[in-house]
This record gives sequence, C-alpha cells and structure tokens, in this order.
Amino acid sequence: MADKYAEPLNDIDRYAVVGNPIAHSKSPQIHAAFAKQTNQDISYEAVLAPLGNFKHALQPLLDAGYRGINVTVPFKFEAYDICHHHSARAKSAGAVNTLSFKSGEIVGDNTDGAGLVNDIKNNLRHALEGAHILILGAGGAAQGVLLPLLNANPKSIVIANRTFEKAQQMVEKSGDSVIVSASTFEKLKNQWFDIVINATSTGLSDTALPIPDNIFAKNCLAYEMMYGRETPFMKQAKENGAQVADGLGMLVEQAAEAFYIWRGVRPQTAPVIAKLRNS
Ligand code: NDP
Repeated sequence: MADKYAEPLNDIDRYAVVGNPIAHSKSPQIHAAFAKQTNQDISYEAVLAPLGNFKHALQPLLDAGYRGINVTVPFKFEAYDICHHHSARAKSAGAVNTLSFKSGEIVGDNTDGAGLVNDIKNNLRHALEGAHILILGAGGAAQGVLLPLLNANPKSIVIANRTFEKAQQMVEKSGDSVIVSASTFEKLKNQWFDIVINATSTGLSDTALPIPDNIFAKNCLAYEMMYGRETPFMKQAKENGAQVADGLGMLVEQAAEAFYIWRGVRPQTAPVIAKLRNS
C-alpha cells in the first residue's frame, strides 16, 4: 500500500464501486445523477476485483489518486481490514461500504444502515421510534443496519436467524440486551411487529422463509432488502395486509450518504429512486 496517495491527474475527482460481480451495479448511474443534480465535477465507475484479492485490486485506484470508493459484495469485510480508521457504524457492522482516501490514510464507513433508516423514515414515512422491529437474518446486511436502527429509538428489535447463534452474537455485540433480543423463526409464533425487515439472502433464490403469517401487525411495513422483483417474503407480507417495500430506496439512500461523506452535499434522492423504478 502506498504511503501517500497521489493527487488526481486532472481536475475531476474520481470515485468507483468495487465488487465481484459488478456489471449489474446501479451505483454509477446513481452517482452520476447526484453529481449532475448538485453540480459536482466527479467521475464514478464500476471496477471488477478478483475474488480474494481486494487489496491488490485497490492499489491502482490509490495510485491514480481516486478520492474514494464504494465496496460491494463480497468485499465489505476484506475492505474493513485494510482501513486505518473506522466510523462507529462501521465498527458496529464489522464491514464497510464506503472508503475515503485522505492524506495517505483509508477511512472506512458503513452507510447501509443510514440508507435503510432514511428510506423507512423519509420515503416510506414509517416511524421507527417506539416501533417493534423484527430483523430476519444475521449476515452482513443485518449487522450493518442494527446500530442505526437502534439509534432511532425503537421499542424493541428482535433478530431471528436460521443459525440462531449468529443472532445471539449480534445481540451480544450490540451491548443492549434490553431492547435487542435473538429468536429462532419458530419462536416468532404469537409475536407481532410494526416493521419486519428481510435481511436474509432468500430473495435471491426465491426461497420462502418459515415465518408465521401473524407477525405482521396492523399497518406493518414489510421491508425486503433485495430489489428488482417480488420475493416470497414480499408476497407473504402483502397477503397478510402489510405495506411492502423493496430495497431500491435503501440502495439510493446509502449512495446519498456516501456522496455526502465525500462531497459534503446531500443530493435529493426521491427523483433518483423514481427514475430507477421507472427504468
Ligand atoms: P449474507 O450472505 O451475509 O447473509 C445471508 C443471511 O441470509 C444469513 O442470515 C443467512 O442465514 C440467511 N439465509 C440464507 N439462506 C437462507 C435460507 N434458505 N433460509 C433462511 N435464512 C437464510 O448476505 P447479506 O447480509 O450481505 O445480504 C442479505 C440481503 O440483503 C441480500 O438479498 C442483499 O442483496 C441485500 N442487501 C441490500 C442492500 C441494499 O442497498 N438494498 C445492501 C446490502 C444488502 P445463516 O446465518 O443461517 O446462514
């Protein structure tokens, strides 16, 4: 890793999203829209990194004077390990999705949770304060959203995961065993929630989760982190009277938070979400 990162070769500040696969990424489109909207002169591209060698793939970007990058699947944990400094939310997640390159150091942040919280509060207009929240899953995405959800003052957060021990570990790590608790899917019987968040990857394989129909309270928001099509979770929630949302809003909101970290300007997200939804 270079001690001091080079200045950019021209006046344009360069950014990228790094992942594998990466061709499907909507991030270049989203950041181009933000840059146009806020008159920021930046470039943003998608970079494919070889599996298991994130650090190696990052070096040319550092050498070329990039200002920062977004990190996506499967490199969020590897990227965490190469950062010199971590934000509190990155530490809580143990993973980063936004790196800033400053004075020869790499600063890691995680904007996924802020993206989810902003989408639920500002776009979907559901209150998190005082809410009973259920998080399904205990993988990287679930870990990334726990602290920001906790900071929104909910009444309770239950984490239910196929591998129960992972949910338990998340509770321990949160340091708040009063508000946060772990559950199996089976034990969700006779419980109801104001907000149910599917942070499992079951949507990718169209797999239904073994969750009871009655977990969706009146006026419940059922939030599927995946986007692009209706998943079995969304179908089940809809059939049981919940308002259903997918993760497109979260995607745009987490990008807006990254844009703010880099540029100090908050772009408007609603027009970008609407444009992506219609395209
Ligand atoms: P991980 O691989 O880290 O975690 C997967 C989770 O899904 C684990 O909790 C796992 O349980 C659970 N799971 C997998 N298969 C099953 C199954 N058949 N039945 C029950 N549970 C299962 O994935 P991520 O956390 O990174 O991603 C999760 C989802 O969130 C993905 O759909 C991803 O696309 C989405 N996402 C969306 C974002 C957005 O901006 N909209 C941002 C980040 C993620 P176990 O521990 O037992 O293996």
